[in-house]
Amino acid sequence: MKILTKRELIEQRIARRSTVSTVEPTVKAIIERVKSNKDAELIAMTKKFDGVELQELRVSEQEISDAYGKVSSSLLQALRDALERIQRFHFRQKEESWKFEPESGVLLGQQIRPLASAGIYIPGGKASYPSTVLMNAIPAKLAGVERIVLTTPPETGGSVNAAVLVAANLCGVDEIYKVGGAQAIAALAYGTESIQAVHKITGPGNAYVACAKKLVFGDVSIDMIAGPSEVCIWADEQSNLAFVAADLLAQAEHDEDATACCIVPTVDYAEALSKEVFTQLEKMDRKDIARKSITGNGWIAVVESDDEAIGIINELAPEHLEIMTSEPEKRLQDIHHAGAIFIGAYSPEALGDYMAGPNHTLPTSGTAKFSSPLGVYDFMKKTSIIRYNEQALERVGEAIIELAQSEQLTGHAQAIQVRRKGYTNEGLDN
Ligand code: NAD
Repeated sequence: MKILTKRELIEQRIARRSTVSTVEPTVKAIIERVKSNKDAELIAMTKKFDGVELQELRVSEQEISDAYGKVSSSLLQALRDALERIQRFHFRQKEESWKFEPESGVLLGQQIRPLASAGIYIPGGKASYPSTVLMNAIPAKLAGVERIVLTTPPETGGSVNAAVLVAANLCGVDEIYKVGGAQAIAALAYGTESIQAVHKITGPGNAYVACAKKLVFGDVSIDMIAGPSEVCIWADEQSNLAFVAADLLAQAEHDEDATACCIVPTVDYAEALSKEVFTQLEKMDRKDIARKSITGNGWIAVVESDDEAIGIINELAPEHLEIMTSEPEKRLQDIHHAGAIFIGAYSPEALGDYMAGPNHTLPTSGTAKFSSPLGVYDFMKKTSIIRYNEQALERVGEAIIELAQSEQLTGHAQAIQVRRKGYTNEGLDN
């Protein structure tokens, strides 16, 4: 792995590569074709990109019930366990409508309601992700979304991965469709004969999916534009080398573009860690992907102080931050930007990916500086409530007229004047 000082790190800046723009023309064309040709285009593109000829886009009840027979009882139990833990955490995010009376004759508040519909994209090109089904569908369900739709590319043979179907069914997903890529996002945004449009699209995906979400935003809401996954591990000389290396590699196996990086106190530790990473790498099933990620994007920064480490972390705003120093909570309050913080040697990212409870859909590419993990709040919307009586309006009437006139909005001023006592078409009669 590349071993850098902080200066070198700053000089080379943290590479934030985006493949979104390079695929944009292709994705724009896909969206336009789905808008025009609807289901026929979804079927044609599924044949072209996934090699599957579909008769029906929607997964049938029979396919869902058959899926239970295809997953092992231990996997079913693990999904149920994860579901319970994710529900327990997300339940606490539920917000209630509120109102208050700040002065006599005035009632103000906020009405909080679920979105009417949500579309969840679950990637399916190279692997299947039942955990991502749980992480997206559970907060939508807890929010009270009435219609939850899931789309995912079919596997060779035309079925949807059984664990994905079971996870969706356990969460109460209402409709499941066998369509992936940018065409799935277009269908969710604009609707086709089979797939009714939704109000919000969430879920990760490759560059085509991410770009499509960016292009349909505005016509429909989206959760975020997810870039390649990242982990940053802050270690010290007491940190267990095997643990740190394993967690870097767990990140690197996601895909070639993933970033696994580490902040350490000495060059000796950095060299030992790099050696351990390459030793463990050889034993991995996905070693080709992990090697490309580690050699292409991975780095170890050697810092002289905790302040220097914190400076790098806050600049990086990593999707996942693991603090494996001997006093992992000592500087927690100084870390302002990270999607999720894993504290101590026994809180690896893999725990958060599946089972801890918090959402694993997190802001990537430095966007943790201004955005948050996916949650129940992503599936809710707020409406302001305002009620003034005549006397209360009179108390603020003059000030409103003053402000409206300063903006040359005399119609606004008039809307107040007509409500004032004694108003006639000629103006106030006193
Ligand atoms: P995907 O479902 O995102 O993409 C597959 C689809 O891409 C295909 O169905 C096809 O329609 C489309 N496609 C492929 N080649 C195309 C081309 N040349 N032109 C137009 N469309 C094309 O699955 P994937 O490719 O495996 O990518 C999944 C991504 O999601 C990975 O990067 C993975 O790391 C990420 N992921 C992230 C999370 C998370 O929570 N952050 C979870 C799971 C997966």
